[in-house]
Amino acid sequence: MDSDLIEMIKKAKLFAFDLDGTTIIDSKPLEGIKDLLNYLLKSGKSVCFLTNNSSRTNAMHAKRLSKIFDMNITENDMMSSLDSLELFLERKFIKRIYPFLNERVKKYLKEKFIFDDETPDVIVVGFNTDALYSQLEKVSQLIFKGVPYLLIHPDLRCPTSFGYIPDAGSFGKLFELTTGKKPIWVGGKPNPIMVEGLVKKYNVDENKIVYVGDRLYTDIEMVKNSGIYGVLVLTGETTLEEFENYKKATGIKRVAVAQNAKELLKMVKK
Ligand SMILES: [Mg+2]
Repeated sequence: MDSDLIEMIKKAKLFAFDLDGTTIIDSKPLEGIKDLLNYLLKSGKSVCFLTNNSSRTNAMHAKRLSKIFDMNITENDMMSSLDSLELFLERKFIKRIYPFLNERVKKYLKEKFIFDDETPDVIVVGFNTDALYSQLEKVSQLIFKGVPYLLIHPDLRCPTSFGYIPDAGSFGKLFELTTGKKPIWVGGKPNPIMVEGLVKKYNVDENKIVYVGDRLYTDIEMVKNSGIYGVLVLTGETTLEEFENYKKATGIKRVAVAQNAKELLKMVKK
C-alpha cells in the first residue's frame, strides 16, 4: 500500500470511527477494536464516534458504547446525523417539524423544536424503529399537501447479526415511491456537513482527520466529499473488489484498506 498515505494516517490527530460494521455489530465490539482504541488514546490521539444512526441521541450512543467497550465515552465523543439535522434546521431558521422518528429521539428534539402534525414547515424522516403504518399514512398525506421532507441520513439498511433491517433511507425510498417527491435535503454521511462539525468540535484541520468506516456510499463518499483521510475496513458490507472498482471510478487516493481493526492497528504501529 501507498506508504505516503500510511504516513498521513499515522500523523492524524483525530480518528473518527463509524459504528455498525466498523466497531460494533449489534451490541458487540468487533475483534481488535478495543486494542486499537486504547493504542490510539495512549498515543495522544483524539478518538470519536461518528454515526448516521438516528435511532438514538448522542448521550444514548455514548452510554451504550461505554458499556460495549468498557471505556468512558461521553456525549462529547459522539457526532451523529442528528447533529447535522440540528445544524441544518438552525441555519434555515426552521422551527416547526413533523418528526417521523422513534419516541426516544422525539423526546430529545421536543426540547428544541415545535412538533406540528398539521402545518409543519418540514417533515423529518429518520431511522424510526417505532414506525407504525398510521405514521406512514400521515407522512404521505403531509407530502401530498405540499410539505417538503428531509432525510436525516441516506442509509438504506442497518447491519445486524442475522443480516439487515430497514433504515432511514429505505423509509425515504418508500415515501419517494408513494408520493413521487424526493427529500429536499439529506443529512448525515456522506454530506460534508458532518466533517464541518468535526473540524469545529475538535478544532483540527481536515487533513489531520482520519475516518474509519465500512461503507462506500456513506463513509468513503464523505471522505471523497471533504479533505480528510479514510480507512475502509472489510468487516461490514464492502468487499475489496467493490472498493477497487470504486477507486477506479472515482480516482480517490486518500483511502487505505484494512481487513479489520487488528490490521489497522498494525498499520498505525508500523
Ligand atoms: Mg457502518
